[in-house]
Amino acid sequence: MNFSIDLKNRVAVVTGGASGIGRACAVLLAEQGAKVFVADYDPLDANESQFADLSIEHRRCDVRSVDELQQVIDEAAAVGPLKVLVNNAGIGMVKQIDDVSEADWDACLDTNFKAAFFGCKFAIPHMRAAGGGAIVNVSSNAGLLPRAHDPVYSISKGALISLTKSLALCHAADRVRINAVCPGPVGQTRMMEADLQATGDREAMAQKFIDASPLAKAYNRLTDPREIAMSVLYLVSDAATMVTGTAVGIDGGKSLGVPPK
Ligand code: NAD
Repeated sequence: MNFSIDLKNRVAVVTGGASGIGRACAVLLAEQGAKVFVADYDPLDANESQFADLSIEHRRCDVRSVDELQQVIDEAAAVGPLKVLVNNAGIGMVKQIDDVSEADWDACLDTNFKAAFFGCKFAIPHMRAAGGGAIVNVSSNAGLLPRAHDPVYSISKGALISLTKSLALCHAADRVRINAVCPGPVGQTRMMEADLQATGDREAMAQKFIDASPLAKAYNRLTDPREIAMSVLYLVSDAATMVTGTAVGIDGGKSLGVPPK
């Protein structure tokens, strides 16, 4: 048995890997030896020197375009055995149902859910041909416990967990594992920064996020994107060979229920 997390000779695709959680995943996977393709419509948030010794290539790709997504996945699989896909690209949608337009619905569901479905569709045949692989869908604590302030986002992240479990069942025989991670509030990301800035009182809002998550409150800090990347690394590694269809909460206990006063 091989319990190594050595990813040498493995190709990985990370969607939305230009910043935040996706960027942390791309760096960590590449540090373990993977050849990583980042599929993002924005350029890498780079401190280029950090990437100097790592095999990370950026491909401009809007994941809402099924064709653009397939192109990156096929290109990555042509370079070597495609063993890892991280469906991470995502956008927030803080709107109540009265204010949600069809365009809002499409933007959120197409980015957060449809792209992950088609990412799986395009990656699985390559992984099957490579003798197996691992996919991680980046959901949210909102996927585990829907929130009142962003119903469309919560729906998209809940659907992602359903997709994860359904495809995990379908593709175990191909040795393709599909898991989800469900982060709580993560700092150093554009998404969180936009939420914090939108309130006009960044520090008060950051504290509100921290206080809403029992462990974040205990440590008095938001989650670091690398703490999400570490779980992703475990899930795509051979150490998780028997793990599929899980939705791992990395939310400091936020989705467990009402904490003690
Ligand atoms: P982020 O905004 O820093 O990263 C999102 C990345 O996705 C960006 O690089 C962006 O350019 C890319 N992206 C968005 N739409 C795209 C598209 N159509 N095509 C290609 N790329 C696209 O934010 P993040 O927090 O790192 O978000 C990563 C994932 O984590 C998202 O799915 C988000 O829903 C999820 N998440 C974040 C938090 C948090 O608190 N930050 C919590 C739970 C879940």
